[in-house]
Amino acid sequence: MDRSKQIVKTSLVGVGVNLILVAFKMFVGLAANSIAVILDAVNNLSDALSSVITIVGTKLAGRRPDKKHPYGYGRIEYLTSMLIAVLVLFAGLTSLKESVEKILHPEAADYSLVSLIILAAGVAAKLLVGRYVKGQGQKLKSQALVASGSDALFDAILSTATLVAAGISMLWGLSLEGILGVIISGFIIKAGIEMLMEALSSITGDRADKELTEPLRELVESYPEVHGAYDLSLHNYGPATVIGSVHVELDDNMTARQIHKLTRTISADVYQKFGVVLTVGVYASNDTDAEGQAIKQALEEIVAQSPEILQVHGFYWDKAQRRAMFDLVVDFSADPKAVLEAVISRLHERWPDVGFDPVLDSDVSD
Ligand SMILES: [Zn+2]
Repeated sequence: MDRSKQIVKTSLVGVGVNLILVAFKMFVGLAANSIAVILDAVNNLSDALSSVITIVGTKLAGRRPDKKHPYGYGRIEYLTSMLIAVLVLFAGLTSLKESVEKILHPEAADYSLVSLIILAAGVAAKLLVGRYVKGQGQKLKSQALVASGSDALFDAILSTATLVAAGISMLWGLSLEGILGVIISGFIIKAGIEMLMEALSSITGDRADKELTEPLRELVESYPEVHGAYDLSLHNYGPATVIGSVHVELDDNMTARQIHKLTRTISADVYQKFGVVLTVGVYASNDTDAEGQAIKQALEEIVAQSPEILQVHGFYWDKAQRRAMFDLVVDFSADPKAVLEAVISRLHERWPDVGFDPVLDSDVSD
């Protein structure tokens, strides 16, 4: 089954369980005259709604690319998670308001044993469905599912608190619903803000996952012709569509035909294994003469002494023109131009007649 079908299936389970809970809790809440239980039911209704949003979002995000949106609609998923985060935030604020009111104006609820059993069953159902939805979300890299799964787990805690408060009120006639409600509302609001931040960070464009970039780079470097893979840069159009580029260092005497075959093989293997559409760029590397080696070594020493320089790669010595080319990856916290000028001036001290053609690369992936 493909990813979007699995997301829809998981969400349908969420809708079903929540609607059943809404019916039971409404019944219990009205019978026992408990605002906490009625609010709990309303909360479950909003969870069913968030699952419906996930389904609609997944359907929209799964549309085929067209002329206007050639990279597809995958980023709609981030908007869906944002919408769900707003719902969670709203639920947290509402329950905070109600809980504060309950502290100010306590109201005795009248629970029966049957209603407690129904609430307990509701907690168990929420725990199970929450773990299932969150697990599926992590497996399918769906923020929306992870968000609604975590939300369900919070609801289970919320319902547990309601249940405990109901028990205490039955046994000792003490009303704790309000205080518990305030504490839980705080957690729900915090979770809502975190979900919102995560979705906004994805929309802004964040650093690619180490769990993807490290094995991907290892695969590219596993070809015997490749001396090194650098500048791996990945962009995504939703969790399921990732495109990017990488630079590989190859012997400068390889022919276009050989490079063509190699880079095509790399792209095909990367797509097959990771689903990433990768363009492969080429750096030439050569066995340089003694002078070229000395420059390369001096450069590597300078880099080793400079913590703000993360990497040097793509060194190429053009003996005839007396020019050296290389790329520097400078940490984001440093001023790259100043760092580069310092490196060049140190090299020029020893080799005043050599021309340097450096390229500044960004630290875009691990
Ligand atoms: Zn580079």
